[in-house]
Amino acid sequence: MTDTARTPEACDLLIEAGYVVPIEPHAVVLEDHAVAVRNGEIIAVLPRSQARERFNAAQVVSRPEAALMPGLVNAHTHNPMTLLRGVADDLPLMTWLQQHIWPVEAAVIGPEFVADGTTLAIAEMLRGGTTCANENYFFGDVQAAVYKKHGFRALVGAVIIDFPTAWAKSDDEYFARAGELHDQWRNDPLIGTAFAPHAPYTVNDANFERVRMLSDQLDMQVHLHTHETAQEISDSITLHGQRPLARLDRLGLVNDRLIAVHMTQLTEAEIHLCAERGVSVVHCPESNLKLASGFCPACALQRAGVNLAIGTDGCASNNDLDMFSENRTAAILAKAVANDATALDAASTLRASTLGGARALGFGERIGSIEVGKQADLVCVDLSALETQPLHNVLSQLVYATGRQQVSDVWIAGQPKLVQRELVGMDLPGIIANARQWRERIRHVRA
Ligand SMILES: [Zn+2]
Repeated sequence: MTDTARTPEACDLLIEAGYVVPIEPHAVVLEDHAVAVRNGEIIAVLPRSQARERFNAAQVVSRPEAALMPGLVNAHTHNPMTLLRGVADDLPLMTWLQQHIWPVEAAVIGPEFVADGTTLAIAEMLRGGTTCANENYFFGDVQAAVYKKHGFRALVGAVIIDFPTAWAKSDDEYFARAGELHDQWRNDPLIGTAFAPHAPYTVNDANFERVRMLSDQLDMQVHLHTHETAQEISDSITLHGQRPLARLDRLGLVNDRLIAVHMTQLTEAEIHLCAERGVSVVHCPESNLKLASGFCPACALQRAGVNLAIGTDGCASNNDLDMFSENRTAAILAKAVANDATALDAASTLRASTLGGARALGFGERIGSIEVGKQADLVCVDLSALETQPLHNVLSQLVYATGRQQVSDVWIAGQPKLVQRELVGMDLPGIIANARQWRERIRHVRA
């Protein structure tokens, strides 16, 4: 070996961890490994003993008691609604939505509400190890700017809905806004845009056809709530003579761009149709449980080969953005629903909440696993805590025993966002003070 061959390679960041959970390959834990990062990208995953010889790192972060895993992807959320956390609870979906959420929302919605809610959500997500969100809310332009400002990765949905809102007054205006959003962010490394038709019961055939045509032309994902409740299915049969998925299929939307959220009501044939067409399903177990919407057959979907992702849904219906809690609920609920304790094991659950989410969003080539060439969206979880001792099995602890407060460090595209639990570049007391003033404003509009 020559001297030049031994010259260390430069890198920006070397993270050494007791355990690296790469997700790909599946169900693997690499003990005493390091991840090297240059220009925001992962350039090596190697044993810790070799890392410092091979790399001359501008910064070394050593976390011998931690698991380093890909950032969690929250595959369905309405982050501005974080400001409506706890406004109304313990009600069925339609009563909750029509009598409580929509009237309050109508009174406060606007760019300021959306920016402040998104900021609060970003801080909460970072402290819980989430590095990417699939967003579905009005004023996508405002959200995208806030995500970008904080260096947070997101797929921002342009909402399409059949009635006027503060965001758009007519069908044409909804589509014009979606086009503007897409054009503005089309080549951004952090922000992507999707169509977000609200649900089959709030979007007519003509608008769905328009979404289908434009999503094909512009290569945009379609982020849609569907098959959320039994009522939605029976209403669709009454109104359209078809179950929602059959109707969407007639309209050409059941394809690999579809991000189908909830899916609690599915026949065998529908599960196979989703697998065949490459549909991604986002399971939001806590939202479904809290609203008594039904049970997504997560295990059957996964075993049929459907790409499964996990989401919290908005804070108004969950009431948090805690993906560790969501993972645990998903894994446990899947076993009860399938009547099979082997359903959705720990490794599969972690995969759904990282790589599964990334693939659903169309980001599968960029994020979701710790692999060379992917973006360094990484999370350190401190497993030395009492609550995760003794450490018999890292994957088991991460799904069944870890709380989000054990997240110590977070990077997005190699940039530090949380260091030893301190947010970087975000004013935590200021964010909390701002949330408090929103409580007063919302209390006032409800009085
Ligand atoms: Zn939702």
